[in-house]
Formats: sequence, structure tokens, C-alpha cells
Amino acid sequence: MSDRQVRPCPACGKPYGPESCTADLLILSRLRVPFGEESRSWVEDEFDRCHDCGVEVGGLHHARCDVEECPKCGGQRLSCRCEAEGLGTEQAQAAEAAK
Ligand SMILES: [Zn+2]
Ligand SMILES: [Zn+2]
Ligand SMILES: [Zn+2]
Repeated sequence: MSDRQVRPCPACGKPYGPESCTADLLILSRLRVPFGEESRSWVEDEFDRCHDCGVEVGGLHHARCDVEECPKCGGQRLSCRCEAEGLGTEQAQAAEAAK
């Protein structure tokens, strides 16, 4: 597989593995889709760990995992533009607009 198997997650600093990613929990935890809750189920294919980043069911994927689903558009988080367009600040912007 790729070299990410031997490098730590650049976001949280932990090795790719079963432990949930803790990188941006404070801002995005409610906006992230944990492994096992994707609209496309990977778990039923007898995966009990993410085949890409290695996280256990219920954990948050590590940086640049290609399985993580975008909670906004339902697409692949790795390749969609939602986060770049302010996914994490959307609630703050909505609160601002309501004033
Ligand atoms: Zn991580
Ligand atoms: Zn993953
Ligand atoms: Zn998206």
C-alpha cells in the first residue's frame, strides 16, 4: 500500500491506525462522518477498520483518507470542495447573517 502506512497522520500526529483522528475535533467534530456511518457502507464488507486510514468503526478518519464522506454533499471528502468553501465556518456565518 501507500507510504502513509508508515507515516503519522499530518493532522493529528498519530500513526494511521485504529485510534480516532483528533486533529480538528473542536471545530469539525459535528460536521464529520465517522467510519461506519457513511451512506455507502464499508463495514458490511467485513471491514472493521477503514481500509485506507485504518481507523476503527466509530472513529474519525485521519487526514486525506479516501473513505471519509463529506457530511455536506455526501461525496468523497478528499475530493469535494465543501471544506475549502467554508464547511467548518458555516454555522458562524449563518449566525452572522441572522443579525
Ligand atoms: Zn489523524
Ligand atoms: Zn479512513
Ligand atoms: Zn462536500
